[in-house]
Amino acid sequence: MKTDDITAVFTLSYGLYTIGSKSGDRINAQIANAVFQITADPVRIAVAVNREELTNQFIKESGYLAIGILNQSADIPFIGHFGFNSGRDMNKFEKVEYFTTSSGCPCPKHNTVACIELEVESSTEVGTHTLFIGKLTECSVIGQGIPMTYAYYREVLCGKTPPTAPSYRAQEPVLSDQQKEVKTMKKYVCSVCGYEYDPAVGDPDGGVAPGTAFEDIPEDWVCPVCGVSKDQFNEQ
Ligand code: FE
Repeated sequence: MKTDDITAVFTLSYGLYTIGSKSGDRINAQIANAVFQITADPVRIAVAVNREELTNQFIKESGYLAIGILNQSADIPFIGHFGFNSGRDMNKFEKVEYFTTSSGCPCPKHNTVACIELEVESSTEVGTHTLFIGKLTECSVIGQGIPMTYAYYREVLCGKTPPTAPSYRAQEPVLSDQQKEVKTMKKYVCSVCGYEYDPAVGDPDGGVAPGTAFEDIPEDWVCPVCGVSKDQFNEQ
């Protein structure tokens, strides 16, 4: 038995959530998968958020956060919108319907099963992430649907994970027999999330075989990371 098989870590289970917070009159939300309940009475929940994220800064400033529990109707463009854009560059709620909790933290109205607001009681810096531990202050069931699991996101929606996520996995390239020919094909980069389309790797999860030139990818193909269309890519 191998004792350094990192795929053992990939078998951990998670959900998929929006984490919303505010600072003054600004609001923001991002995607997180590391959310878990710690105690039942009172209800305390832990949330890990990357230290570079704007949401992390907002949580530290306001002391509150809202967890939106996504359901399976949340698609790749929706998740990509919150997960692969930065609130420093845009207002993520400009075109997304939302409501706010009593503390003013935003939660999307659609694609969510429930919303839980936490008041942060303590936090610990853990390398790249901050682990926030909060006490439940408000909770509501928003809609029907089955809560999205991280496994569903990756295996059914073929979603990817950004390097800023705690559960990031380095992509393993799949090289084809036409490697020599493929070497002359150009790589393209997504202008929104930075995903690089490499013809040698293709996008097998998205139905694009290794060895496919970017020009030959069907027009309805979308960025496997953030969900934007092909015209948002630039030649590298
Ligand atoms: Fe992208």
